[in-house]
Amino acid sequence: MENLIKDIDIIGTQAAESCDYKTTEEENTGKGKKLYIESYGCQMNFSDSEIVASIMKDNGFDTTSEFEQADVIFLNTCSIREKAELTVRNRLAQFNTLKRQKPDITIGVLGCMAERIKDQLLEEEKLVDVVVGPDAYRDLPKLVAGAEEGQKGVNTFLSREETYADISPVRLNSNGVTAMISIMRGCDNMCSFCVVPFTRGRERSRDPHSIVREIQSLYARGYKEVTLLGQNVDSYKWSPEENNKARLNKKNDVSEVVNFAHLLEMVALVAPDLRVRFSTSHPKDITDEVLHTMKKYDNICKYIHLPVQSGNSRVLELMNRTYDREWYLDRVSKIREILGEECGISSDMIAGFCTETEEEHQDTLSLMDIVAYDFSYMFYYSERPGTLAAKKYADDIPLDIKKRRLQEIIERQNQLSLQRNRLDIGKVHQVLIEGTSKRSAEHLKGRNSANKMVVFPKGNHQVGEYVDVMVTDCTAATLFGEVIG
Ligand code: SAM
Ligand code: SF4
Repeated sequence: MENLIKDIDIIGTQAAESCDYKTTEEENTGKGKKLYIESYGCQMNFSDSEIVASIMKDNGFDTTSEFEQADVIFLNTCSIREKAELTVRNRLAQFNTLKRQKPDITIGVLGCMAERIKDQLLEEEKLVDVVVGPDAYRDLPKLVAGAEEGQKGVNTFLSREETYADISPVRLNSNGVTAMISIMRGCDNMCSFCVVPFTRGRERSRDPHSIVREIQSLYARGYKEVTLLGQNVDSYKWSPEENNKARLNKKNDVSEVVNFAHLLEMVALVAPDLRVRFSTSHPKDITDEVLHTMKKYDNICKYIHLPVQSGNSRVLELMNRTYDREWYLDRVSKIREILGEECGISSDMIAGFCTETEEEHQDTLSLMDIVAYDFSYMFYYSERPGTLAAKKYADDIPLDIKKRRLQEIIERQNQLSLQRNRLDIGKVHQVLIEGTSKRSAEHLKGRNSANKMVVFPKGNHQVGEYVDVMVTDCTAATLFGEVIG
């Protein structure tokens, strides 16, 4: 475990959202040039890569899963922790050899690193031809064409309006059942540890009608679950006149305002057998209206990712999270009151933030016990240049202490996950089948409403089907059972 922390400095009890990368799979028209994309970091980045693939496809590029066959290689990058950036720099070093053998290949760095360290990338990484930030993907075909003529291309302009609403994403690495839909971009919060407001710009909400149209089209193609994505989905706010949150908040002459609860309802109404999930919820923004909308529709999954970051109010204030321990626990009580004990709750936790004492770290552990999270993504603090914390506070917790505290948080989470999963034994869960279990070709896997992975014998069941599974056993990460009925 210690090595794992060292290697990737991020631990999740579920592997869905890690610093892992995913590559493109084959999309072949047989006519195009070949594009290979590797995506790092959060789900938003994976979703952005699908937009990039769509833009490039319209300009004659097929995707490939073999980088050796590519005419263009894109790395869609993450800056959230130092380690994430180092991983990309190492990957670029590996592509150096390829570039020497195939000098005509175009290599692009996209996403948050492009935004954060564009000059450094162009100066130090000689092989990089194009550097494009998250709001400038429409410019990619032009910049790639320039690079093919020997011109380096850069566009890191951060837009106040861009949502790529009209672009129909090419579904990469798809299981044909679940899809991610970006509903907003950027973030107007200023958590002191976080680089996102600097790399992804101001908060904008995507036209709800374009979201519903995209989901209707996915449903018509057989998809059964959508996850609405944004850095802070509960802050979603759109009007026909203005999609920029800060500007919309100043206007009082708009014809209509759609908030997140309204959007959830619009999406839930697309089809009763289309499951709806969303991520991420900010504790300061999640409203009772959202919780009641979740309760009203059976197809809105009963699961909330509600990152707390720390269980101590002083540390939360330094983090500029704008809520304290009591506020957070009150939100959790509301979730339990409206949605019951079975609603899944998960979190993100940062160990060893600036000046955090042992007692304050204990507050994180005690809060975890009170909430009884189903799982968490857990990190130790990584100072990011330019953030408020980097400017105002010393990164004064030694690395070995950060790692020890993280280890304690991970151990506590593993106990809690097991405890929570045991409560599911003997109960029947509706599961949407997503694929074959990694461990056995004779077993299928899928998730229940609370986002827990359930594994069961295959029988005659198919991917995309809903089945009722009686849970008979579990580990901290997985429920096991048998299909009934
Ligand atoms: N918008 C989401 C929220 O506020 O909950 C979080 C998005 S961020 C991409 C994902 C997680 O990365 C954060 O919740 C936080 O736990 C972690 N993170 C962000 N900056 C970090 C840093 N400087 N060091 C360690 N972890 C960090
Ligand atoms: Fe970063 Fe805070 Fe925005 Fe999340 S809410 S993306 S942690 S600034």
